[in-house]
Amino acid sequence: MSFVNVLDRYEDFDFEAHRNDLTIDKIDTVLAKERISDTDFLSLLYPVAAHRLEQMAKKAESIAKRHFGRVVTLFTPMYISNFCENTCAYCSFARQRTIVRRQLSFEEIREETRHISESGIRHILVLTGGSRVKASLSYLSESLRIIKERFPSVGIEIYALNEEEYRLLINQGVDGLTIFQETYNEPAYHSFHRGGPKDDFHFRLEAPDRACRQGMRTVSIGALLGLAKTEEDAFFSGLHAQYLQRTYPRTEVSVSFPRIRPLVGDFVPPFPVSDERFVQVIAAMRIFLASAGITISTRESRQLRQRPAPFWCYENVRGCVDGRRRTF
Ligand code: SF4
Repeated sequence: MSFVNVLDRYEDFDFEAHRNDLTIDKIDTVLAKERISDTDFLSLLYPVAAHRLEQMAKKAESIAKRHFGRVVTLFTPMYISNFCENTCAYCSFARQRTIVRRQLSFEEIREETRHISESGIRHILVLTGGSRVKASLSYLSESLRIIKERFPSVGIEIYALNEEEYRLLINQGVDGLTIFQETYNEPAYHSFHRGGPKDDFHFRLEAPDRACRQGMRTVSIGALLGLAKTEEDAFFSGLHAQYLQRTYPRTEVSVSFPRIRPLVGDFVPPFPVSDERFVQVIAAMRIFLASAGITISTRESRQLRQRPAPFWCYENVRGCVDGRRRTF
């Protein structure tokens, strides 16, 4: 059993018919429930539910407060290499882009971690481009050993690994994995990934399973909103997180919501996501999965992030680091 089986169950599901059947009354019925089903969650993702955005936000806030209190945990990403063998159409680091390529030396990594840890941040996410040649396992192992000296919690966001490789990095002190499927729509996935190891849709989809089986403490998954229909990718992100929670109860599961931003090159997201739609998706996710972590990035505007009571519990702090935790 893997999440592929869950995806397969929806192969013939008529999303269009579900959408056409929705009314505001049906959305009100969903919002009155204590627990919602998979298809209730899907209903909350369609534009008709935006007529009840305020009610959705209130419900999401109250669930978030009950499960996580009024605290948001901050973590910061640290890119240690931007070499990449993949051709992801939406990414500035793709191998076809003409950009400056850099890989930090161990001395530079030591220096960066010192700066970041002195800012008060205690959680770090280490990122590389998708190059096994440059960001090899031995380079990663040594880098993580250095980073671990200053951070009690170290996550990775790198290329998909096999099970033994996850075990090796867990033994090195890694306790979190972030890996986004980008889109759960397989034909769309193949249209954006045409050359490189990341083209393997299923190997990537099952990466969280491999890490969980080896005892990864936290796993964060999600889709890159903008690549395919928002409601369908948000729906499958939620189902994926639910599947991981049920299958690996000892792993803490989070969902992230990256949105496509301007980049080097000429990529235009086929399904752009407005701020209002973005808030609707996060609120729906919180109502569906009360106990899952939800992460948003400081790439999102301050205005959007500084809600009196947010529905998410992690913020990915890019650039400016101003403290360990933000309390509301
Ligand atoms: S694998 Fe990662 S770094 Fe490389 S092009 Fe794709 S998204 Fe960018």
